[in-house]
Amino acid sequence: MRTRTVDITTRLQLLDAFRCAHQADTALAAADRSFHRSTRATARALASAGACEQQLAAARDIPQALTASAALDDARQAHLDCTAGHRKAHDRLCRAFTASRRANRELAARYRPHARGRGTSGKRRSSVTAGLLDEVVAMPLELIRAADVLLVQSSGGKDSLVMLHRIATWADRAGCTDKVVVVHCDLGDNSEWPGVRELAQRQAERYGLRFVAVDSTGGLLGLVEKRGMFPDSARRLCTSSLKRDRANVLLTEVVAALGLDRQALVLNCMGLRAAESPARSRKSPLAIDTRASNNKRLVLTWHPILELSETAVWQTIADETLEYHPAYDALMPRLSCVFCVLAGFDVLVRAVRLCWALELPLPEQYTDLEARIGHRFKEQYSLADVVAEAHRAEVREGPLIWNRGDALCAQLGDDTAAAYLERMADCESEAYLKRVSLAV
Ligand code: SF4
Repeated sequence: MRTRTVDITTRLQLLDAFRCAHQADTALAAADRSFHRSTRATARALASAGACEQQLAAARDIPQALTASAALDDARQAHLDCTAGHRKAHDRLCRAFTASRRANRELAARYRPHARGRGTSGKRRSSVTAGLLDEVVAMPLELIRAADVLLVQSSGGKDSLVMLHRIATWADRAGCTDKVVVVHCDLGDNSEWPGVRELAQRQAERYGLRFVAVDSTGGLLGLVEKRGMFPDSARRLCTSSLKRDRANVLLTEVVAALGLDRQALVLNCMGLRAAESPARSRKSPLAIDTRASNNKRLVLTWHPILELSETAVWQTIADETLEYHPAYDALMPRLSCVFCVLAGFDVLVRAVRLCWALELPLPEQYTDLEARIGHRFKEQYSLADVVAEAHRAEVREGPLIWNRGDALCAQLGDDTAAAYLERMADCESEAYLKRVSLAV
């Protein structure tokens, strides 16, 4: 395909045409499956009615005939219901077929001028889509200029911080900072370390970006209480119901507020890194969010720091004097929920000790909940086991002690940490003077 010679708008239109065709084909396949299911159900219902008719014919006395007659009535009603369902399934299939044919024709019409004689089905379609996404992500400034809104999903953690820095820098160069909205899902005091929301806000305000915090009622603790069980890596309901679903509601509101009479282009930016896990290493820097996209919006999920190592993240924090959360200085590896269901045993033990050092009541709240619902925090061990191990560690090593800059010392050495703290102190006093002068 000769897309290297076409502009970004055409590339994005092609991507949307591929999305529409893909979604229409997926809907057609689902409608086809449902039609075949209903065909089989109708045939079974008909056979069952036939069997009932035979039983009625073979009845030897009145009670037998009455029973067989009642069964025949039920079977006939079931057959009628199945036939009605089958008709609906057939109509759905016809509509899905028409929509799929229309979407594929539109795709072919858009695609043909750029790749004469080439088909747009199957593997070729996925490889062309992947190629287009690679081309588009290689021109971040054009991509930002083409977008209507950029949502920067910020947890306030180190990866979000560096991703935010990257996006803010590009958006500034592209002259588009007004398009950026920093979104923070606030899980509340019973889930997160203190000060996360305020920190995420300061991080956004440093670049003059709009900040929106989305509240999650009840947080992780409330979710577990409601479901009577803790989520786990296979069923990460916490991420979907506490973060993704709420962020999607905001996405709809933001797009509606644009008041466009055409499809909006939304860039949903996330701070994932490939080095974090095998699942993340399989992600692409840019992908179509088929679930969130529709005729009103094309949503592209952007991972702008996918290739960065952990050291590179810390190096950026040090070089750019970015403000990170003090929990990292207590050597917590991630700024997730205090008791994240994905964290390892040692990290959880450290989290309990940090709660004690900060006088947070969370260990007790979570172990009480665990006992109340009778479901362990993890299959292999309970939070009560974690707390017991934390007690032993306190006896061995004493309470946790840390200093500001310890995370940078551990990652990049004492000199880098000292220089960072010096620059940070200058920034803080500058900010203080600015506040005072504004007050005067
Ligand atoms: S940080 Fe961990 S526990 Fe919290 S929502 Fe994410 S996966 Fe779930």
